[in-house]
Amino acid sequence: MQQDSCPFCKIIRGDAHAQILYESSDSVVFLDINPINFGHALVVSREHYKDFSELPDKVLIDIAESLKIVAKAIIDSVHPAGFNIFNNNGLAAGQSVFHFHFHIAPRYDGDGLKVRPQLKVYESPEHMAEYAKNIRDKIKVNDKSGERK
Ligand SMILES: [Zn+2]
Repeated sequence: MQQDSCPFCKIIRGDAHAQILYESSDSVVFLDINPINFGHALVVSREHYKDFSELPDKVLIDIAESLKIVAKAIIDSVHPAGFNIFNNNGLAAGQSVFHFHFHIAPRYDGDGLKVRPQLKVYESPEHMAEYAKNIRDKIKVNDKSGERK
């Protein structure tokens, strides 16, 4: 299922240009048009899913393989000092295109990208344990709720 107005669906359909690096059954990888550093790539699901929460397991596994294959190629080609693999979900998290994608971003000392959050401190061990319990209670192994019917 693709969306007419989605910029990533347009690239996948061939209706918009991109420098495609790699394709697999469930993913397409291309260069980010506004890179953090040159060689910054996006690993995009071939089908239109809004974000991580919608991805079927099968697609996530395929995307993980593409991430590894292309990250290694970027390292061997660009020789960065380091690299980030990240994914933004929702406006508050910085997602700008609402079609699931991972970023692979080459990094260098002093490259200007700063992510320095003001880290929180749990009020007590019990406070932390409460968060852990609430999350554990919601863990669903083999959850297929995000799968397409
Ligand atoms: Zn799309």
